[in-house]
Amino acid sequence: MPRLLLAHVAHETNTFSRLPTDLPAFGRRYHHLGDAVATAMRGTRSEMGGFLDAADKYGWEVVHPISAAATPSGLVTADAWAALTGPVIAACDGRIDGVLLALHGAMVAEGADDAEGDLLTRIRAKLGPDVPIAITLDLHANVTETMCRHANIVIAYRTYPHVDQYETAQHAALLMARTLAGEIRPRAVVTRRPTLVGFDGGKTTVEGVMTEALRRADAFEKEKGILVVSVHAGFTRSDIHDAGPSVAVTHDGSAARARAIAEELMDYCWERRTQTSSRPCTVGEAVSIARRPDTSGKPLVLADFTDNPGGGGYGDATNLVRGLLAAGIAGVAVCPITDVEAVAACRKAGVGATVTLAIGGKIDPEFGGPPITVEGTVGHLGTGAFTFDGPMWKGVKSSMGDTAVLRVGGMEIVLAANRFQTIDRQHFLSVGIDPTERNVLVVKSSQHFRATFQPMARRVLTVDTGALTTPDYSRFTYRKLRRPIWPLDPVA
Ligand SMILES: [Zn+2]
Repeated sequence: MPRLLLAHVAHETNTFSRLPTDLPAFGRRYHHLGDAVATAMRGTRSEMGGFLDAADKYGWEVVHPISAAATPSGLVTADAWAALTGPVIAACDGRIDGVLLALHGAMVAEGADDAEGDLLTRIRAKLGPDVPIAITLDLHANVTETMCRHANIVIAYRTYPHVDQYETAQHAALLMARTLAGEIRPRAVVTRRPTLVGFDGGKTTVEGVMTEALRRADAFEKEKGILVVSVHAGFTRSDIHDAGPSVAVTHDGSAARARAIAEELMDYCWERRTQTSSRPCTVGEAVSIARRPDTSGKPLVLADFTDNPGGGGYGDATNLVRGLLAAGIAGVAVCPITDVEAVAACRKAGVGATVTLAIGGKIDPEFGGPPITVEGTVGHLGTGAFTFDGPMWKGVKSSMGDTAVLRVGGMEIVLAANRFQTIDRQHFLSVGIDPTERNVLVVKSSQHFRATFQPMARRVLTVDTGALTTPDYSRFTYRKLRRPIWPLDPVA
């Protein structure tokens, strides 16, 4: 019976964030070790859920030392990196026949700019050249030569919102099973261009550069010897040498043909690098649309595009809340504003108490506005615990940390201790708010929210509040990124 090492270590590192990512940051999302991995992840629509089901299907003996993820934030500390990788390396003994790793692909740790490449290098050093390694990646991975040198199989999600995590893991497992059976001997190549942005940021909810690239990738995968054509939009807010879009091709034949395919798709990416379907409106425009009378009975969904904790945003930007409060819009639910101090103040005051608080804007007011002082009533206090039940991470247990709902005029503001991208209706339901019954929903997300909230909305708008996940790259100083690079430099 083949013995497989399954592990999940994932973080999208925004190196411009002031918040270091330490081990407790993983604990706030999830950090399961050993037997607890299967207990927590079996039956979920996650990569680890997919790996575990595949192991049953193919009759593999498994060892699963770790499944850990943190909400995107700043540099992963050296201590956290050692604690995350230690169990994986320790499990790499002489009895492992294959490795299935669920990674993000845009993780940056202290001392390891290419964190995934560092982990793969160490795994390969312990296991030797012949043990096959398959990695699954977020489509916002910054894929490096080092990663593709050590991983035999490289395969990223094909959806944004990422609703195919389980299927991606199953695909990786199928290719691993074929490798272990001696049917294929996969290798991977990767290529890029001098651009930080491309493939329309990876969006698959509208026809555009990404959907066309994926169609072409599907067609290439029908060629003999081409196993996976993996298209990555990249993660732009990582100041590392190789940030940006890339294409990796996993093949079982001609490396030259695999590279030619990757180059052809990156030519397409380069030619269309200016094309984007993201057109976030201003706070003023969003407020003016929110003022319009509604007869649909459905919510207007306003997504704070630039304060997306899923891209490292602080989740505490106040500019949109400020605009809506000033306009006196009724029936607004905001979920969540990250503010551990405000939550504590609400808990101290108790349900029903009237409090005056400065909320949000505390981590770096330059991005998204200063704290906003409000008088409100504490309407709900909770632990923030919930289980995802939407298209992403279905079945995975999580927590927004201690939560409080503050009623301010016509607005309910969910205050949360943990930073969290709003992608699931359970964010609202877990604090007693039915999102379908509100006039306006404010969510912290750029794109993932669409999977759950677009179907219930009368209209969806993304809003530029000037926060940390701004598409205005001139606000950041890149020091390690390869130069020249578009759009920071003129590149022919
Ligand atoms: Zn992503």
